Amino acid sequence: MSQENIVEVWNEILGILESEIPDSTFSTWILPLEPQYYDENSFVVHTGQAFAPGMLRKNHHGEIVDAIKKVTGKNLEIKIIFDEELAKKFSKKAGSRAKKEDTQQSQRYNYDSLTQMQSSNLNLKYKFENFVVGSNNKLAFVAAKTVAENPGKKYNPLYIYGGPGLGKTHIMQAIGHYIIKNKPELKVQFVQAEEFVNDVVNALANGGDRVDKMNKFRNKYRKTDVLLIDDIQLIAGKTRTEEEVFNTFNTLHSAGKQIVITSDRTPKEIPSISDRLVSRFEWGLMADIQVPDVETRMAILTNLAQSSEIKVPPNIIEFLATVYSNNIRELEGAFNRVTAYASINEVELTLDNVKKIIGYTENKKDITFDAIVDEIARYYNVSVKDIKGSSRSQKIAEARQMAIYLSRDLTKQSFPSIGEYFDKKHTTIMYSYDKVKEELTANNILAQVVSDITNKLNKQ
Ligand code: ADP
Ligand code: MG
Repeated sequence: MSQENIVEVWNEILGILESEIPDSTFSTWILPLEPQYYDENSFVVHTGQAFAPGMLRKNHHGEIVDAIKKVTGKNLEIKIIFDEELAKKFSKKAGSRAKKEDTQQSQRYNYDSLTQMQSSNLNLKYKFENFVVGSNNKLAFVAAKTVAENPGKKYNPLYIYGGPGLGKTHIMQAIGHYIIKNKPELKVQFVQAEEFVNDVVNALANGGDRVDKMNKFRNKYRKTDVLLIDDIQLIAGKTRTEEEVFNTFNTLHSAGKQIVITSDRTPKEIPSISDRLVSRFEWGLMADIQVPDVETRMAILTNLAQSSEIKVPPNIIEFLATVYSNNIRELEGAFNRVTAYASINEVELTLDNVKKIIGYTENKKDITFDAIVDEIARYYNVSVKDIKGSSRSQKIAEARQMAIYLSRDLTKQSFPSIGEYFDKKHTTIMYSYDKVKEELTANNILAQVVSDITNKLNKQ
């Protein structure tokens, strides 16, 4: 096999590993690996996750080497190399994480309906099988299952709404997976509203044949049997996009094609969206997802723990489920951090250790802005003046954003008062806070930095 086929070779290897390695490990650590090349001695892959080389070498070396042998016929050593560029991409990806990960994963993955998977843009983690049903999401779950079993027949559109990190994207993509598996003749298209907006903008942009571009755009979204649009609130106020959504909706709906929409709020609550869209979104069924109760949160962690390498004691599951109460993405993030840390550093998962890993303290003492900035300056090796100044050098900007994030997170002061301290507009402060917060969900390394600094501040 030639080196040009490295991606294909890797796909086959993934196909084998997927059946041998627990789901959560596979999707967290193996899928994001990027194959580079192989020679007579070794097979080289890159990773953007600092924990991956140690963790995989320790726990899955045998399976990986065997799978490589099955596919290449050679006894090759696996070299997993941490790549800083990838790490940067990895953390930058946080903003549009779902979208990019999905594309990356479906491009490489060896699935029954590989072509369908590739064009549908779905993430393999998000299936009904991995979705824990509780009273908070029961309605959405049942509706999603119904739609998946009879696309276009009932509840059209299905409109799922709820707060961040509560499983909207997961459940919507589960519908897609189910249909691809059980009705492979149907075409499924998943799109983030942001991407839809970009596609409209590109189709309308100058340059190239506009009619041709518009046709391509319309083919993509109208020649599909199931259209899944994620985070529809993001099209609000974008008139041309709204118009395209409206027309796409009408074409699909009147042809009996299924439409599923998610949003962080009800159609009426989306500001400045046209009434005609609101009324269409309300045509089918609107199902909300609420914050899960503590039992459901524990069930989600128990599921994760079952496919984890590390044994996670019940008291730790209970503890994490109590601390992270209103966002499953954060709950999962904490769980992954705890198990990754325990695996690499070979520490036992006692309550004390877990508290340290997640930066938890019982009696939060009063931490001042000055203390935070001092600690960050030391950690990033920049000056206090730099942090409070306006230099845009990457290192300083990162330190500043982290200082702003922690100022909010640890003191719970208002954005305007933090703005006053840093001499910045409160909108700038909010932006920095949100940016770090979002990035933390995807970037284990950054999350570890936050807990290290928090621990230090709490000890002072
Ligand atoms: P949203 O789109 O609502 O912001 P996501 O669908 O991205 O949330 O979910 C965030 C994370 O939480 C995902 O990793 C998802 O798999 C997980 N998750 C959410 N709800 C559940 C659930 N009921 N069971 C298992 N995992 C869940
Ligand atoms: Mg989502």
